[in-house]
Order: sequence, then structure tokens, then C-alpha cells
Amino acid sequence: MDDLLSLKQAFIEESASVSDLSGLQGLRVKYTGKKGLLTARLKALSAVSPEQRPAYGKVLNEIKEYIEGFLKDREAQLKEGEKDRRLLAERIDITIPGRHTPFGRRHPINIILAEITDIFVSMGFGIADGPEVELDHYNFESLNIPKDHPARDMQDTYYVSDEVVLRTHTSPVQVRVMEQRKPPLRIIAPGKVYRCDADVSHTPMFHQVEGLMVDTAVTFSDLKGILELFVHSFFGKGTPVRFRPSYFPFTEPSAEVDIGCIFCGGKGCRVCKTTGWLEVLGCGMVNPRVFEMAGYDPGAYTGFAFGMGVERMTMLRYSINDIRLFYEDDLRFLGQF
Ligand SMILES: [Zn+2]
Repeated sequence: MDDLLSLKQAFIEESASVSDLSGLQGLRVKYTGKKGLLTARLKALSAVSPEQRPAYGKVLNEIKEYIEGFLKDREAQLKEGEKDRRLLAERIDITIPGRHTPFGRRHPINIILAEITDIFVSMGFGIADGPEVELDHYNFESLNIPKDHPARDMQDTYYVSDEVVLRTHTSPVQVRVMEQRKPPLRIIAPGKVYRCDADVSHTPMFHQVEGLMVDTAVTFSDLKGILELFVHSFFGKGTPVRFRPSYFPFTEPSAEVDIGCIFCGGKGCRVCKTTGWLEVLGCGMVNPRVFEMAGYDPGAYTGFAFGMGVERMTMLRYSINDIRLFYEDDLRFLGQF
């Protein structure tokens, strides 16, 4: 009996200093393991004399329950403590501001290019494209601009060689499409063009949208109708539109399209140079010479063509006064769109 009581006393003293799960495991093995102190006493129970056995067994059983109960409770306690410690160590402060990832945006030129394209696609125009490094033949000759033609001086051309240029306009796409397809045709050709020119309203590379419609009875009033519809879609219903006679070698007759100044409402301001009008497009009926060179019979078909500068449209839309801002990669500028 004394042995049992001192066993319990020893357990109580040792267990008081257990502070973690591995210490508790050591205690468990020492007392209740295969060769444990308590296990040895339980195994020896049969050696106790039958008279003493009930009383001895009762005390031994109480000690066994005490030790096992203690181990179980303490284990739960220590596990809970460890969980708290781990949660504290892994704590995430959700009130700390996140790291900001800057998102890319569409370039203003691309926003306006997509808008112009959408308007013409909604009117049944398809999209065509052609090479930016173009043969002199397509860029000039087939558009009724022979080598000695004064119109070549209107465009400051980058020559790659005598017969190859960086295209100065998107008009050569017209000819390439006509060579490959028969009327009826209704296409626009958006793309980059190049001219040796740079100031607040010119950059060496800029964007144009060319348009072409050809059929057996296309008239100048079709041209006016389509372009008025475009101007009203892009600049708003009720925007005044006027067609002013002009000259292009590849159209006859030719016109320039002006809109009532969107900044002063037509009263006259710095942007419209006090005229009350802003030039936005060039257009005209396709010159029969151009049809002939593309292999179309000018007696059978008529058509119109037009072209506009995307940078100019974008500058008007967003009131930007310097074209160079588009190509300086300044995120403070680009982030505003
Ligand atoms: Zn104005």
C-alpha cells in the first residue's frame, strides 16, 4: 500500500513540471507504457495474497484512473495551448493595406480606333488590311499618282528603295482589295501610316482608317449619308456637317468633311482657328482611273472612298492639344483613359 501511495505521490510531483506534449508523452511511457511503473504494479496484482487483493486492487484502480485521467486532461489542455500559439504565430492582419498592382489600360488611340471600327462594322463594312512596307506602285501609281505627279510633294515619304516605301496612307489597301475581289465591296482599312513629319500635330507614325464602297450605282449622296451617319454616331446627333470641295488624285469629285466646332459650338475659337469648323475627313468618288488600274470596268461600277486620321479624332474627342503625348509612354497621361 505504501508503495502505491508513493507511486501516486511521485507521479503528482513529476506531472507538475510537464509543460509540453513531448514531456507528457515521456510521463505516459514511464507510468503506463509496456514497462511502465503503473503497468508493472497491475501485472503484479495476481501475486498479492487473496485476502489483501480486494483492498489493494481498489487503491491500484483508483491510482490508475487518476493517472489516465490526468494524462488525458493535460493532453487536451496542451493541445489547445499549442493551437493558440500556432494561430498567434500565423496571424494575418487583414487591416494592413494590400500591395497595389497597376493594371494596364487600352491606349486612347486604340479606344478610338475600336469605336470608329464598330460604327462602320454596324453599317455592314468589313475590315481589310495590307502591308505597312508597301510598293510604290500601290502607294502612289495605282492611286493615280505617277512618279512626276505634284501630289507626291503633299506627302513626305519614307523611301526604303526606289520602288518600296513605308505607306503614307491606308489607301493602297483599297487597290489590293479591288484586285482580289469583285464588287459589291464595303470595307474599311484601319492601320499605321508613316510620314517624315513631326510637330504638335504630326508624328512620323500615325493611324488612319480608310473606307471604300463600290457597287453598280453608288452615288455621292450615299457617301454623304454614310459619313453623316458616322459623324453623328461619333460626335453626337445634331453635330453640323459640311462637305467642302477639295482635291485628291484618287477621287473625283473630292471633298473634305468639316464638323461644327465641338469646342465653341461654331462661334469661333483657338482650336477651330475662329472658323467655327473642324476638318475631320477626306473623301470622294473613286476616280475611274483607279478602277481601271485595279481591273474594274469604270463604266459598270461607281464607288466612294474616304480616309481619316485616328490621332486627330482622338485629340478632338479628349481635347488633347499635342499629338506627341500619345507616344511618350507617360503613365500619368495614359492612365487617364
Ligand atoms: Zn471652335
